[in-house]
Amino acid sequence: MPESVADLGEFGLIGAVTARYPQGSGVILGPGDDAAVIAAPDGRMVVTTDMLVEGRHFRRDWSSAYDVGRKAAAQNLSDVAAMGARPTAVTVAMGAPKDLDSAWALELADGLRDECEQVGASVIGGDTVSAETIILAVSAFGDLDGREPVLRSGARPGDVLAVCGRLGWAEAGLRVLSRGFTSPRVLVQAHRRPEVPYDAGPEAADVGASAMCDVSDGLLADAGHIAECSGVRISVHSGSLEIPEPMREVGAALGEDPLQWVLAGGDDNALLATFPAELRLPERWRVIGSVVEGAGVDVDGEPHVGRAGHTHFS
Ligand SMILES: [Mg+2]
Repeated sequence: MPESVADLGEFGLIGAVTARYPQGSGVILGPGDDAAVIAAPDGRMVVTTDMLVEGRHFRRDWSSAYDVGRKAAAQNLSDVAAMGARPTAVTVAMGAPKDLDSAWALELADGLRDECEQVGASVIGGDTVSAETIILAVSAFGDLDGREPVLRSGARPGDVLAVCGRLGWAEAGLRVLSRGFTSPRVLVQAHRRPEVPYDAGPEAADVGASAMCDVSDGLLADAGHIAECSGVRISVHSGSLEIPEPMREVGAALGEDPLQWVLAGGDDNALLATFPAELRLPERWRVIGSVVEGAGVDVDGEPHVGRAGHTHFS
């Protein structure tokens, strides 16, 4: 068993990991050659990439390697889902200090693999290099299965704004950890790894979503992306936002308003979409606002006062 990442050798982390796991049905040729070959049954391929940097997006004393792997995969897989596509494969490039314990890297790969398994995607390749700090660049690929991609630019006045998944949980967990606490565990865990309703993306596309994105920067910031791309104004109705009990308790304990975490907290990777008002939405999609003429985002008709987006540890 090698002791450090550097000792994993030329075949590298990905070879060591993928050799341990079966590849999904969408993989024609897995790792081991100069490149992998994946199927694109639709004829079009959805591609996205995202980075995680130690100290900015995660801390090794707050998150396990396994959780970092889950999170790195999740934020890319949710971007694929937010297009209305089904994730099929993932590649990962990792920079790590030479003396990083190889067990840490292998645990991270376990996390990547387990998150991918939730959606039937495979880790098909990657690279490792030595670096001052841990840097992860993950790319995810997906298939549209014949659907049209759901863009950020399709929202129209009269549409409703709806969300599927959690809002503010990861931010609440970050606040808890920042104050030196480790409970409520459900919130801390939400910071460590998101719970993404991946299949709600293709579901929204099938129902007829007019625009969609995932909430990685924060509800208001990401609603702002849809508003800007679509040339509309989005009004968020604060009374329709859920504030779960543990978040209320933490808010009271820290003297902060948990509604602000729901509005501005990122990293939960909920899916946010607009739908023509006459459509009947699947039960797990909750209507939280409306699309009107104009520009920007408001909360209950008023401009939002406070932070709009997530800033990680900075
Ligand atoms: Mg996104």
